[in-house]
Amino acid sequence: KDRDGLGAYTADPFAHERVIFNNDTSVIIQDMFPKSSVHLLVLPKSERNLLHPFVAFEDPELLADIKVEVERAKKMVANELRRKYGKLSKSEQPRIQARDADEPPDVLPPGRDWMKEIITGIHAVPSMNHLHVHVMSREMYSDHLKRSAHYNSFHTPFLVPLEKFPLAKDDPIRLVGHGPWHTVDLVCWRCKRNFGNKMAKFKVHLAEEHDEWKRE
Ligand code: 5GP
Ligand code: ZN
Repeated sequence: KDRDGLGAYTADPFAHERVIFNNDTSVIIQDMFPKSSVHLLVLPKSERNLLHPFVAFEDPELLADIKVEVERAKKMVANELRRKYGKLSKSEQPRIQARDADEPPDVLPPGRDWMKEIITGIHAVPSMNHLHVHVMSREMYSDHLKRSAHYNSFHTPFLVPLEKFPLAKDDPIRLVGHGPWHTVDLVCWRCKRNFGNKMAKFKVHLAEEHDEWKRE
């Protein structure tokens, strides 16, 4: 397995179709094996990007830069969710209908806040060597979600949000990677039902939850 595969995107952003944003500090890419319906990665262009994230994020400048790009990626994910699943609000419906429509209300009902449906963070023990932050929808509906570890690595403390950094020397988060996170029970993020280690059954359930979630 190639653990250096993410290096190519920052080395030559223009060579890759998966790169959807590029600036001086970072690129934002599409995950090649998305674990939910929208799954992006933010890759900093820092010379610190081969350090473990706990060490890399000791640099306040890098941390500040990446937080800006994670916010950008969150908006990209939210827009994509809205495009995929959103219902058109009154103001977005084709103009032609306006002739026959009633007077529009002064205050339009607020659309769904897709920003609330997004999770972000780094894995306590990343499998890929180049520093990357996950920014993804939280429903975990994907053909690439095959093993229980795929689910649990995003819905347990194994996913560490950027707000936790920089970590104190004695922060217990430093020990998360040694814990039994990948053998813990599968617990539905939405209804909290426990599926033990029954991944096949859980996948069926996640599909049902996805269906309701997208229409909330
Ligand atoms: P980690 O467990 O290291 O935090 O996650 C690495 C992520 O990189 C995984 O979500 C995986 O699907 C993704 N990934 C692995 N190889 C590639 C690749 O070559 N290109 C892209 N775009 N994503 C990759
Ligand atoms: Zn559920």
